[in-house]
Amino acid sequence: MNSESDAGHRHTPTARFDALFEAIAHAIAVFDAGLELVSANARYYELTETSPEAARGRSVYDAFPNAQADLTEQIDAAVDGTPVVAHPVTFQRRSGTRTVEVTFVPVSADGGGAGLIFAGNDITEREELRHDVARSVAQLESIFDVIPDSVRVVDADGNTLRTNTQAQLDHAPNTPNTLRELWQLDRPRTLDGTSLFVHEHPTARALRGERVRGERLEVRRGPDGAMIIDVNANPLYDEHGRIRGAVTVERDVTFRTQLQQQLEEEARRTAELYERVSTEAERLERMVQERTRELLALQEARSRERRLTAVGQLAAGVMHDVNNALNPIMAAAYLLEAHAENPDAVRDYAVRIAKAAETGAATAARVGRFIRQEPMKGERDEVIDLAAVCDEVVAMTRPLWAERARGGQVQLERSLAPGATIRGIPGEIREALLNLVQNALDAMHGGGTLGIAARVNGDAVALEVSDTGTGMSEETRERAFEPFFTTKGQAGTGLGLAEVYGIVKRHRGSAEIESALGKGTTIRLVFPKAVDTPTATLEEMLARRAPRRVLLVEDHADSREFMQALLESDGHTVEAVTTIEDAMARLGDNPEVPFDVLVSDIGLPDGSGWDLVTHARNRWPRLRIGVVTGWEPRGNTAATDFLLRKPVRTSDLLAQVAGSGNAVLAQ
Ligand code: ADP
Ligand code: MG
Repeated sequence: MNSESDAGHRHTPTARFDALFEAIAHAIAVFDAGLELVSANARYYELTETSPEAARGRSVYDAFPNAQADLTEQIDAAVDGTPVVAHPVTFQRRSGTRTVEVTFVPVSADGGGAGLIFAGNDITEREELRHDVARSVAQLESIFDVIPDSVRVVDADGNTLRTNTQAQLDHAPNTPNTLRELWQLDRPRTLDGTSLFVHEHPTARALRGERVRGERLEVRRGPDGAMIIDVNANPLYDEHGRIRGAVTVERDVTFRTQLQQQLEEEARRTAELYERVSTEAERLERMVQERTRELLALQEARSRERRLTAVGQLAAGVMHDVNNALNPIMAAAYLLEAHAENPDAVRDYAVRIAKAAETGAATAARVGRFIRQEPMKGERDEVIDLAAVCDEVVAMTRPLWAERARGGQVQLERSLAPGATIRGIPGEIREALLNLVQNALDAMHGGGTLGIAARVNGDAVALEVSDTGTGMSEETRERAFEPFFTTKGQAGTGLGLAEVYGIVKRHRGSAEIESALGKGTTIRLVFPKAVDTPTATLEEMLARRAPRRVLLVEDHADSREFMQALLESDGHTVEAVTTIEDAMARLGDNPEVPFDVLVSDIGLPDGSGWDLVTHARNRWPRLRIGVVTGWEPRGNTAATDFLLRKPVRTSDLLAQVAGSGNAVLAQ
């Protein structure tokens, strides 16, 4: 084969060489013995930014015009027979600088120099990568160092490869180079005191492939020689999945653990203390409960005793009064039977029976007012102005004050607030007040000051009666409201305050006594204030009433005086007599009778009130006639305009006399 004829043909050795020449990743240039460029590949022209035409025949010393370094020394060395391999040189290109590893290899033939080959390996990208890696590693290393935990990396044999600053400080001035040395210095133990063998060390376990997490160990480090660490360890693998080492991270948790232990201890002690305190509290509570029970039992026994005493007294009182009423009735009944043929005697005994029964009925009514303590349902109640009631009672009783107080001077101290209104039955309130005034007068033998006050206090209204009399002993004060309790012997009934009590209860109020022996007494009744205003004031009511001329027939001095005073206080003119005979004399016989109203008792000393009523009705049809009786009326009721049962309620009496009431039997 002729090489000349094959020149330029693709399949000649030269053609293959050319293809290889171009395929190579390096820049290649070939220089002849005269060191002039004979051939180069495209990478060379790219690197030097020259063209084949311009470069052909160029001296090797001029063949790298854009190299940033002088290559003469390297070229000379290669020419002298010492190849220069991978010498880094920077080339300036239009697109930027490139880092190239430059190699010059001499070509020798027959022992003489035959030329030079240049090879340039562009390592710009690789260098950049290397720099990036170096930067990353530096960053990682600084991170590694600032970690407050101790970090240790060991190889598969447990030799220390790398430690961060904290890890180095752990054992300073010692530097454990192996896991075994570390183990010897640390003498690790579990928190319950079990020493670890070296193969039980977390790092050793990680080297066997285990991921160790949150292992608490006590090691001999630190100023006290005892530190508690929290250890995590991981195996490190190579790309084939083989363990090539381990990394161990240790955190000093001595302080935290101690704190935790202290807290736990504190909590335990607190719980213990709490336990003790609550046991003690329970014991105290039990004790208090026991004592309370005892006390309550005692109190109950006492109050039961008191209740029984009161009931006994009530029963005895009722029995006494019933006997008092029954005795004359029985005696009269007996005599009635014996003298049945004598009409005068019969009438006399009938009157006595009636009177005795009336007394009994009056007592029963008073006891009844004590017993009926349940609050009213509002059927008959109205709005009452306490100030008006007080004035009324004062007016009614005033004429009797001196007598009741056994002749002494009685001053009045009146303090009546406007707007002291309550809901209730006016007659009952008047009755209560009357009882209080009577008691006050009874207590002031030889005179004194009687105080009457009505006050408004928020939602409550108080009615106060005070005196400067004898006052009460503690025992009297405690028992004063009991029915039949009296310190006045025969003169007292012991029903006044009991009645007051019942009335107050029925009006949803309360009663209290303030008293000092020898100084006086104040009795205060407190009621809920009425929401609406009274329909009429006393003045208005008085103004509306025409004064009447009244003839009152009543033999009972108390009752007579009471009714007279009451009617007079209401503006009427009252003539009071005690017998039918006197009544007849007063009425006279003229068709023009000098009275507007006749009010008569039934049991009169000289006959039955019914006779008087019948006579008067027949003679003066337009005369207003009323009967006041302590028992069931069984007479000529058709002849009357009104019937009132004793004890008379003041409001009923006033209404009936004024002519405004219905002709019904008022309770
Ligand atoms: P009586 O007046 O018939 O004795 P009361 O029930 O009205 O019955 O009173 C009971 C007792 O309370 C009286 O006997 C008296 O000892 C005492 N008492 C009542 N009011 C007064 C008062 N204003 N001052 C002193 N003692 C009083
Ligand atoms: Mg009394």
